Amino acid sequence: MNGPSPSSPHPAEVSARAARLASVPSFQRVDSFIRRYLNRGEDQAAACDFTFGNPHQMPPDRYVATLQAALVPRNDQWFAYQTNGGQAREAAALALRGLLDVPFEAGDIYLTTGGFAAIALALKTVADPGDEVIYSLPPWFLYEPLILEAGLVPVKVKADMDTFDLDLDAVGRAITDRTRCVIVNSPNNPTGRIYPEDLLHRLAGLLEAASARIGRRIYLISDEAYNRIVFDGQRFHSPVEFYPYTLLAYSYGKTHLSPGQRVGYLALPPGMPNRDGMAPAISGLQVAMGWIYPNALLQHALPDLEQFSIDVKQLERRRDRLVEALGAMGYGMRPPEGTFYLFVSTPGPDDDAFTESLARRNVFVFPGTLFETPGFFRISLTANEDMIERSLPAFEAAIKESRSQP
Ligand code: PMP
Repeated sequence: MNGPSPSSPHPAEVSARAARLASVPSFQRVDSFIRRYLNRGEDQAAACDFTFGNPHQMPPDRYVATLQAALVPRNDQWFAYQTNGGQAREAAALALRGLLDVPFEAGDIYLTTGGFAAIALALKTVADPGDEVIYSLPPWFLYEPLILEAGLVPVKVKADMDTFDLDLDAVGRAITDRTRCVIVNSPNNPTGRIYPEDLLHRLAGLLEAASARIGRRIYLISDEAYNRIVFDGQRFHSPVEFYPYTLLAYSYGKTHLSPGQRVGYLALPPGMPNRDGMAPAISGLQVAMGWIYPNALLQHALPDLEQFSIDVKQLERRRDRLVEALGAMGYGMRPPEGTFYLFVSTPGPDDDAFTESLARRNVFVFPGTLFETPGFFRISLTANEDMIERSLPAFEAAIKESRSQP
C-alpha cells in the first residue's frame, strides 16, 4: 500500500509530499479515527467515550476566570503579533526549574501552539531531510506524520512489553550513520509508564557512545506533554537531567485538559552546548513554520496557568476504579503511573474485533493496532465517572463473549 488510496486526493491536485503523507497506512488509520471520534456532537453524550484525551466535564472555574482576565487589554499592543513573550517565558522557566532539577532560563523557552508544534520545531531544528528518527512502539500515533512531514525517516523499535520501558538494546541496534534523533515520551502515552532514573541514565550513556561512534551528535527529543500528570506522589525525572543534548517539548493542553487551547513550548537545557547559537535558527523556524507562537490571549494567561492544574487525584481515582473493576473481570494490565491512559490487553489477539464489540455496546476505546501494537486497547481516563460506571457491564459482557467464542 504505497500509492495513494482510492479516497486520497488525485495526485495532480496536491503536492507529492501531501499525497505521500495521506497514503501512509498508519496515518490513514489515525485520520479515520479522528474523523470518527472527534467533534461528534449530540451522540457523544450518550456514548461512553474513552477515545481521545478530551474533556467530558465542564472546565474548572479557575481556568475560565484566568482566560477571562487575560482577555482584558492592558495596553494597545495586547492583541499585537506575539513572539516568545518575555513574561510567559519567565513563568514557564520558573515552573520548569521547580519541576526538574535543571536551571532553565527564560531565554531557553520557545513558545509554540502546543506539543505538536514543539515536536515539529524540535525535529526541524536538528534534523535534515533523510535523517532517521528513532521512537518506541507503542507510540503516540502522530509522531509518524510529524516525522514524515519534516522529510525525515521514522525508525521504530518495540518497547519491553513486560515493563513498558524503552528497550535500550533495541534502540542501540536501530542506530545507524543517519540517526539524528531519538524521541522519548515519559510519562508515556499510551502505556502510562514513567521511565526510571536508571534507564534514563543508561540511555544517556548509550547516546553519548553512539554519537562518538557515528561521528555526529544524536539528539533526544523528550516529549513531556504529561510531565505534570503523575500519580501516587511519584517524582518525575526528565531525560534533560541526564543528557544535555535534549530538546524538551511540553503542552499545557494536558495540564489543564484543554487541548483545543493551543499552547506549549520547546525548551533547551542550560547544559546544551551552543544553545545560544541555536536561538536565531529556532526563532526563524517559529516564523517560517507558519508563526507557530501561541495566540496573544494564551501568552498573557500563561503566568497564571502555571499556578494550577486539573485535578490529578480525580484521574488517579478513575484509574483505581477501572484497574480494580477490569482486573476483577479478568482483563490484564499494568496500572499507569501517570498520563490520561490505561493500556489493557484484549482477551484475544484481534484487538480490532474486540474494540468493535465494545463499540456495539456504546463503549468506545482505541485498538492497539492504532499504536502498532495489536492485542491491546487504550482507555482514556478523561471520560467522566458516569461514563466509567455505565461502561462496566459492557466491558464485562465483551470479555465473556470473547471467551465463549471458539
Ligand atoms: N505528545 C503526546 C504523547 C500526546 O499524547 C499529545 C496529545 N495527545 C501531544 C504530544 C500533543 O499535545 P497537544 O495536542 O497539546 O499539542
